[in-house]
Parts: sequence; C-alpha cells; structure tokens
Amino acid sequence: MPGDTPELPVQDLRTLMPEYAGFAREATLLNPEPGDPGVRESSLGGELLWPADEPWPYCAQEDHWTYGTDWRNRTEIVPGAVPMVPILQLFARDVPGLAFPDGKDLLQLVWCALIHEQDSGLVVPRLYWRNEAEVLAGGLLPEIPKAGEGEYDEDNLPEPSTLSPVAAVDFPSGFDLPKDMRDTWESRLPSPSGGSTWPPDAHIIGTKVGGWPAWTQPADWPDCESGHRMDHLLTITGDIQLGDCGGVYFFQCRQCTDLPWDWRFDCH
Ligand SMILES: [Zn+2]
Ligand SMILES: [Zn+2]
Repeated sequence: MPGDTPELPVQDLRTLMPEYAGFAREATLLNPEPGDPGVRESSLGGELLWPADEPWPYCAQEDHWTYGTDWRNRTEIVPGAVPMVPILQLFARDVPGLAFPDGKDLLQLVWCALIHEQDSGLVVPRLYWRNEAEVLAGGLLPEIPKAGEGEYDEDNLPEPSTLSPVAAVDFPSGFDLPKDMRDTWESRLPSPSGGSTWPPDAHIIGTKVGGWPAWTQPADWPDCESGHRMDHLLTITGDIQLGDCGGVYFFQCRQCTDLPWDWRFDCH
C-alpha cells in the first residue's frame, strides 16, 4: 500500500551486513498454545513430573506481595511460605537442540508468582535437571501444592499451554551487537521511506530455548562465580503477562561442571 514501509527480507539483512550472519545461533521456538498438557508432556504452566520423594518448592521471602484484588493498592504482603508455580517443563525428545547434562533428559522451571522487591526482583525461579525414567521409577508426587486465593500475582502465572517446538535460526537484538555495528547499521541499509530499519527483525522475540536473549532493554549477561560469561539457556516472554516486564531470561555456564545458572528480567 502507498506509504507503507516495505519490509526488508531477512536474507537481505545478512547480505547487506555479512558480519551479521556470523551471529546466527540455533534456537528452538516453543510456540505455547493454551491447552491441557499432561504431566509427561513438555508444557508452559502445566503440571510437572515431580518425584514423590522431593518436597515441592516454596518461596519464603518475607516481603513478597501481590496487587490483590485492587491493583492500585500494591501492598498486600503475603506472609509465610507460598508454593511456587510450575512454569516450564521440557523433555529432551521435544527440544533436540538443547544440550542436557549427562544422564538428564528433563528440564523443569518453577518460580514464585508473587512480586519481590529485593535483589531477586520479579520472580524467584528454580531450575531442575532430571531423568524422566528415574522420576517415574520412584513414583510421582500425588499432588502439586497450589497457592491459596490471593497468594499469587496472576500476571506471573502462565496459562497452562502445550508446546509445539520448532527449530529456528536466531540473531541478536541490537543490544547484543558490537558498538560499531550498531553505530553504522542504519547508514548501511536501504531505507526507502527514510524511516529507521532498526532493530533487525531476524531477532526472535518469543519463548525459546537457545538463540539470543529476547532483551527488551540493554543486555545484562550474568557471569558465573568463576568469571565466565554464561550462555543463554532460554527466554520466557510475551506468552504470559509478566506484569510490566518484557521477559525472563535464563543462563547457564557450560564451562563449569556443576552448570551454575542465573536469570535476568527486564521491564518496560
Ligand atoms: Zn516469593
Ligand atoms: Zn563458569
């Protein structure tokens, strides 16, 4: 249509800026769709395959709070320990691009769905690597504890969703490009309408494993305690509300044998 900015095909970006192609990383888009995932399926916000002999995790931060029924009154502190909520479960068979630790084939993620003011910020996640057969052999926790009424913040609670993982090639957002590329980006691209073509649209914003973090704010890569910059493990974004936040990003250090991990989130 007249006046519309023609979209630049991704291939053109890589042709016009050959060094951009060098940043390609394999990713798996998880494509969550609201549904009724089973405990032995990969899921977002579904029931987790949880071993009977392992207590369900609780968050006991004293000052975590929820907006409650009135979002203007943001001081409903929830006292005591609150059960964490299932966030993500990934079986190795569904995400062949994800490197599991030796002997593990199941990744699980939970977090506290309340809001935290202290250093940990929005969510207090925990991450678990498991072996599916071992969990099944030992029996499953009969029931995953649920928070009571008002003991979670709905924005931090994903709708139970099935996943349809698809392999993809991901590129960094502008925040992760070297400064000289950022500085010269616009002048090197055709811009028929005179408008900006930034950021590059080969960067995937969505819930994904691998690839690049879907930052919506300047990059903030964590280092492990040994000083290695961690690798991006997965991003959860967009598919759940996450309050005012753009996404939650998980990282791990693959240079350290105990695979330390960390997380970041960003807000609009
Ligand atoms: Zn909490
Ligand atoms: Zn390390």
